[in-house]
Amino acid sequence: MSDETLNTNNKRPRPENDKDDSSPSKRPAARSVSNNIKEVGRDLFKSQAFSDLVINCNGKEFNVHSLFLRQQSQFFQACLDSGMKEAKENVVNLPDDKPEDIARMLEFLYTGRFWEHEENVRKQNDAASIRIYKAYVDPEEERTQEELMSDPLVVIIRLFQLGNKYGIPGLKKACFLKLRLYAKEMFPLIWNRATPEEMVSEISSQWCRLMDAIEFAFHHMPSPSVFEAANTLLTPLARASPFLLKPEYTSWEDLVNVDRNALLEDMTTKFAGLAEKLEKNSDFATRLFTIICWESLKRRGRENYDWVRVRNFVGSTRRMLNTVSRILDDPVLVSDLPCNRRAMSLGQDTACESPRPMVPALAKRYWDTATPLVFRCRDCDWECAPHNLGLEEENEDDGADDFDDLVGLESDDEE
Ligand SMILES: [Zn+2]
Repeated sequence: MSDETLNTNNKRPRPENDKDDSSPSKRPAARSVSNNIKEVGRDLFKSQAFSDLVINCNGKEFNVHSLFLRQQSQFFQACLDSGMKEAKENVVNLPDDKPEDIARMLEFLYTGRFWEHEENVRKQNDAASIRIYKAYVDPEEERTQEELMSDPLVVIIRLFQLGNKYGIPGLKKACFLKLRLYAKEMFPLIWNRATPEEMVSEISSQWCRLMDAIEFAFHHMPSPSVFEAANTLLTPLARASPFLLKPEYTSWEDLVNVDRNALLEDMTTKFAGLAEKLEKNSDFATRLFTIICWESLKRRGRENYDWVRVRNFVGSTRRMLNTVSRILDDPVLVSDLPCNRRAMSLGQDTACESPRPMVPALAKRYWDTATPLVFRCRDCDWECAPHNLGLEEENEDDGADDFDDLVGLESDDEE
């Protein structure tokens, strides 16, 4: 929506005009009613009919309906219900924001979505949105501040910032959904069996964009949201990095004909500037490193590791540490730890008379059991899982959360 249409035509539509095709003042595609509830917001946003509030942002005026703002924004609710000056005069001044961002925020409040591209792209077809990304992706060229600020990723981060500032949870959520979508579709060439040269070029250029966006986020987003955004945007980079370091991972037939030295040299040049950026932001670098390690582990894991077993081990370790901590807090519990060989066996075994308490140990078949950490009798080597001793608390944290947090870095399985 252009500024012009926002600032003019603040008139209640006259129904008689709608049918009068010969009227010189006729509006194209004019309608007197909306077709459904989704269209109501969009139509009101466009026509500004019945608007009862003016938002003034750096000289740009938006005629809006306070109801839409009140219902979704804590800021506007407080501002308009408080009897403050704004409520009496029906004017709210937002001098610190960019008018085009306020227009996007309003678009969201009216329609549940916003357009993060530049306005002229919207008028073209969908292919234009692909072109606009290509326009940002030449890593040789330092982007101007203006180009950076109009990058859709940066726009989304700014909109998140507005959602935070004006207490609009729906907008913040919408921003994250968009970031996830971008991250998910970031490197289509990899999955489309492009040549290694094309891949390197695509990854290195998108990498620049992502780094710029994350850098911007680190300066403008509050924590912990910034970390969630950084994780979201870094994951596709991390996932792509093995292809850069070791293109033979791809096992593509045409790799036989690739000049690897030339490829490596090309990559070194392209990544020099990126390495410089990494050096400037240690938090960012650490985060990227962590996610790359995790992604590599997962790659290897698909071939070599049984993740259920690893998860079991993490959980078992956590339970054992909790149990031992509880015993240290309450030494009387040690009396529950004598060897229970006869009690646990099926009557075949003789009882163990050891007077000493069992101690934590790695199970003899630790790779092959759900409880790799056990209590063991030091005299007869009998092993007993902690949960069989009644020393564990009900619904004790099994430690798998830590593990799942890491898995959670892979956000595209959600929603
Ligand atoms: Zn024993």
